[in-house]
Amino acid sequence: MGKIIVEQGDITTYDVDAIVNAANASLLGGGGVDGAIHRAAGPGLVEECRMLGGCRTGEAKITGGHDLKARYVIHTVGPVWHGGDDGEAEKLELCYNNALQLAAAHDCRTIAFPSISTGVYGFPADKAARIAITTVRHLLPGLPAIDSVYMVAFSRDAEALLNHALKEG
Ligand code: ADP
Repeated sequence: MGKIIVEQGDITTYDVDAIVNAANASLLGGGGVDGAIHRAAGPGLVEECRMLGGCRTGEAKITGGHDLKARYVIHTVGPVWHGGDDGEAEKLELCYNNALQLAAAHDCRTIAFPSISTGVYGFPADKAARIAITTVRHLLPGLPAIDSVYMVAFSRDAEALLNHALKEG
């Protein structure tokens, strides 16, 4: 069965089959990890994204990786945190679920995720880390072609939260 690997790093440098982008609904680029992925992928990415007609919260859409080492970028739109009573947890779960299913459908064996929604969208990082790990862990047995899922934390603090969630399970 596939394994979950927690690491601190810059997701744009990952040499994997697919990296996941914490995009916004327009899919036309933004700040944070989205901006970094678009800068590293080059202008071909936004051109391809323009054809996709946006993306709803919790959905996932796939493009090529363009100038990235990754073969694909899987764009998903995380929920904006509104205090926790607005289905935020379920929507975040859907992001990991849909992104991972889409990766498997494209024969990806190695995938890297950022900590979706934990930047500008304000999702508490500890809760988000738990949802990320439990959702991926739950799906892996049903997706035997997936070999490795990297959970890429941008900070040491985020890395510690992910590692804590990984040990808890
Ligand atoms: P959202 O809008 O979904 O909150 P952000 O891009 O603002 O998305 O933040 C999501 C997470 O991605 C944050 O934890 C942020 O620290 C992290 N992040 C930003 N740049 C990178 C990067 N180059 N590699 C990995 N993670 C990153």
